[in-house]
Amino acid sequence: MKAGFIATRSRANPLTMKALSLVPSYRAYREIYTLLQRSQWWSKEELAAYQTQALSRLLEHAYEHVPYYRRVFRERGLVPADIATPADLVHLPFLTKEIVQANLPDLKARNYPESAFEYVRTSGSTGTPMGFYYEKGVSRAREWAFMKTQWDRVGYRFTDRCVVLRGHVVDAASSGTYWKKALFGRWLIMSSHQMTEEALPAYIDRIRRFKPRFIHAYPSTAVILARYMREHDIEPFPTVKAVLCGSENLYPWQRSLLTEVFGCRVFSWYGNSEQTVLAGECEESTHYHIFPEYGIVELIGKDCRPVRGPGAMGEVVATNLTNYVCPLIRYRTMDVAVATEKQCSCGRGYPLLEKVEGRLQEFIVTRGGHLISVTPINYESGAFENIRQFQMYQEEIGELIMKVVRKPAYTEKDTRQLTRELRWQLGDEVNVHVRFVDEIPRTEGGKFRYLIQKLPITLGDL
Ligand SMILES: [Zn+2]
Repeated sequence: MKAGFIATRSRANPLTMKALSLVPSYRAYREIYTLLQRSQWWSKEELAAYQTQALSRLLEHAYEHVPYYRRVFRERGLVPADIATPADLVHLPFLTKEIVQANLPDLKARNYPESAFEYVRTSGSTGTPMGFYYEKGVSRAREWAFMKTQWDRVGYRFTDRCVVLRGHVVDAASSGTYWKKALFGRWLIMSSHQMTEEALPAYIDRIRRFKPRFIHAYPSTAVILARYMREHDIEPFPTVKAVLCGSENLYPWQRSLLTEVFGCRVFSWYGNSEQTVLAGECEESTHYHIFPEYGIVELIGKDCRPVRGPGAMGEVVATNLTNYVCPLIRYRTMDVAVATEKQCSCGRGYPLLEKVEGRLQEFIVTRGGHLISVTPINYESGAFENIRQFQMYQEEIGELIMKVVRKPAYTEKDTRQLTRELRWQLGDEVNVHVRFVDEIPRTEGGKFRYLIQKLPITLGDL
């Protein structure tokens, strides 16, 4: 996830522990991690009480010390006491990326010194960059406490060897290889930009010799490795206990491919760098368990009102409960998810998301103006066999361009099969045009987008 804070010892001696407890980042980590050990087993009522209290504290603070929120409350004739529970949040306006950009100086809490602010920039779903603030040394540490608590569910320990296949570029010119070790040799960070057919055998050999217990990956990067391994009948890595997938939506076809090839659990989570929502799978299910201690999550529909009930789909609107330096209240993530009211057999009383459909910009617009999620599309069907890489691109309603990087065995027959398959999966309302390209670039952060959507999509289109 977001590197920056690293707990280095699992069995530190008491002296070291005492010294560490004086470091703010370690204190923040320890505090949240300790809380989560208990709170994850609280009843729904206990969790609700915790959230209500945390929300009140946050709103009091925002009203008192953050000029933007002071204005928001005053303009509506409200005081923090009027928002007594998370359900009352509807009385406050949404916070969009645009609003954050336009009001950033006023979103900074006045009772923190300048040294407490760490400026963070995110590229945002429409490619518009957005900046906000973390509490320096604290926000990242807290994030690790939540992440570690999630990974505990698949047995992760800080001492475990871990292969990292995320957006990194390792400079081969200086190191001679496409990977480097970090965290005292426990993490093998591998470049995701050089994973070509030619280089992949060396990657696989290195991973095997490294004997990792976990692979920490962007799904799109792990998929490149997995497809190669399957095509060449390469045995899974026997030491790997789980593939930890985050930062990109994990599509069903990716999950089944990774599970098949690596022969282990694929564990994913959903979150954002704005740290407004974090939700992960558990020991027993692939539903996303929302951390109520992290933030308050609402799903809103077309009319911007909360959607409720089983299977309800809406945009994720989330309120961070721990960032006091730059509070983000009712922040519109532009991500679309489906809620479920099911109770998980693991026993946690956390609210669940059945699935995350991805960003609003990850929907295809049909001729009739309907939206189709790219999530259920199965790229593992035979039609994709001779395709090395692909990316969908839409700039006209009802028209979809499929960019394809061919394998040597690709023929005209594959184009026909691909068009037929997509027509079958997307219906008659979308025309598919196949275009051949030499390569498909990743985003600046090394992530991969399966759909570049140039049409503006708003919640009202859902
Ligand atoms: Zn569960």
